[in-house]
Amino acid sequence: MGVSEVDLFVIGAGSGGVRAARIAAGYGAKVAIAEEYRVGGTCVIRGCVPKKLLVYASRFSQDFEDAAGYGWTVPQTSFDWPTLIANKDREIDRLEGAYTRNLQKAGVVVHNGRAIIEDAHTVVMPGTGERFRAGHILIATGGAPFHGATIPGIEHAISSNEAFHLPQLPRRVLVQGGGYIAVEFACIFAGLGSEVTVVYRGENVLRGFDDSLRDHLRKEMESRGIRFECGRVVSRIEKGPTGYSVSLDDSEGRAIGVEVDTVMFAIGRRPNTAGLGLENVGVETTPIGAVVVDAFSRTSVPNIYAVGDVTNRVNLTPVAIREGHAFADSVFGGKPTQVDHADVATAVFSEPELGVVGLTEAQAIETLKIVQVYETSFRPMKATLSGRETRVLMKLVVDGTSKRVVGCHIAGPDAGELAQVLGIAVKMRATKADFDATMAVHPTMAEELVTMREVTRTHVRSAAAAAE
Ligand code: FAD
Ligand code: NDP
Repeated sequence: MGVSEVDLFVIGAGSGGVRAARIAAGYGAKVAIAEEYRVGGTCVIRGCVPKKLLVYASRFSQDFEDAAGYGWTVPQTSFDWPTLIANKDREIDRLEGAYTRNLQKAGVVVHNGRAIIEDAHTVVMPGTGERFRAGHILIATGGAPFHGATIPGIEHAISSNEAFHLPQLPRRVLVQGGGYIAVEFACIFAGLGSEVTVVYRGENVLRGFDDSLRDHLRKEMESRGIRFECGRVVSRIEKGPTGYSVSLDDSEGRAIGVEVDTVMFAIGRRPNTAGLGLENVGVETTPIGAVVVDAFSRTSVPNIYAVGDVTNRVNLTPVAIREGHAFADSVFGGKPTQVDHADVATAVFSEPELGVVGLTEAQAIETLKIVQVYETSFRPMKATLSGRETRVLMKLVVDGTSKRVVGCHIAGPDAGELAQVLGIAVKMRATKADFDATMAVHPTMAEELVTMREVTRTHVRSAAAAAE
């Protein structure tokens, strides 16, 4: 088989790779892209999109309960997991088709199969034997679930990949982990009616998020029946006649047992670089296999770039897309572009939802001289007639010197939507006075963001701490 010449060979048709390929082709480059699983990548096929569809499904149970206080009589409800999964799969198939067509429309040639790097300018596809001579190579291979140290029975644990295709809704689920995926799936399963136990090695889930938000979410999740086993790790999984017996060890090795039908691990992801041939060309990687890049996403080999989760910078879809776009602008559009990774707004699609942007209170205390915190917690109006015991939490973190709002943290309905808009204000360096000058929209939950007048607490850094 001959060698095809291309200007750009993209490995991985996920969020970052697809964007880079399309934009580079738009600049006139001859582009090929390889995908070993399904076009669309993690986000579209087994991440953000199917996850959000399951989140929507899981929230109906609460809506049915809440309706009674508003005068509705909801007949006996029932939920059918196979229907949800089949409908979700149809939508994912549709999206995969749309992504493939968009690539083709842009002139990108899509190759199905695994690609590996042979030398700095050669990519091979071992499945078909095809070879490509490429001016530039973009590594956009994403990441994959990581299951940690091998423990007895680890083969029984599923990851988020399999959670999207379970044959039936498990009656009892154990989720190990305390990050985005563990929290989101715990809430999905609980909302759909499963009994859920979250096992987390530390004191409280969502390390790195604002502490008030973490405490608030945990209480809200507990009030919805989710059980937490913090300070423990799964040490053994044994298959029994009707499910799994799971041992959970604390730091002193004292074990307790839990009986469940499904064990899901969500203890992080690792960059997909094994067997990619990086060692053939000297592309530098970190100890966990992430590709090391500069601000322009260039690796240690000048014509090889990497974007998205494989670089383990900020592992979110919009970031991968921006990085892919910036790469194409820089290399093929004559517009050198760096991605600004500061103040990236993000949401956790838990129940209640979290939306955040900027510094947490703890981070602000670490970095600023004076920190003013405005915090409020209230019962949302909808919960009055429904009788639901739930509260919304909102926190603004303000730099006491410049008066800039440097962090916004929300737990409540549509918090992710709010984080998107607040992200603009934070990026524009809005001050607390700008928030105060903004007229409220009434009656909304978000109006609290512009009506918090009293400082809840102030932290002043001591001269000694500031000098450190
Ligand atoms: P990916 O989208 O992972 O794409 C990489 C592609 O490369 C894959 O399709 C893979 O099959 C392919 N590939 C790998 N190796 C090869 C090879 N050698 N040859 C050919 N192809 C190869 N982010 C958000 O912003 N919001 C969310 O709500 C959200 N929810 C998530 C939920 C879950 C369950 C998960 C797992 C992730 C979620 N994320 C979310 C993260 C988001 O999915 C990723 O940040 C994003 O997909 C990264 O894009 P990427 O292009 O770097 O990699
Ligand atoms: P995270 O990195 O978010 O969380 C991993 C969790 O597992 C942490 O609680 C961590 O604990 C714990 N952990 C790590 N190693 C071990 C171990 N050996 N034993 C026990 N526990 C362990 O990973 P996720 O898998 O949840 O998600 C991967 C990434 O995907 C996210 O970080 C995010 O970037 C992206 N994502 C984004 C979403 C969104 O935008 N809504 C949704 C889903 C995923 P500790 O805190 O103690 O280190």
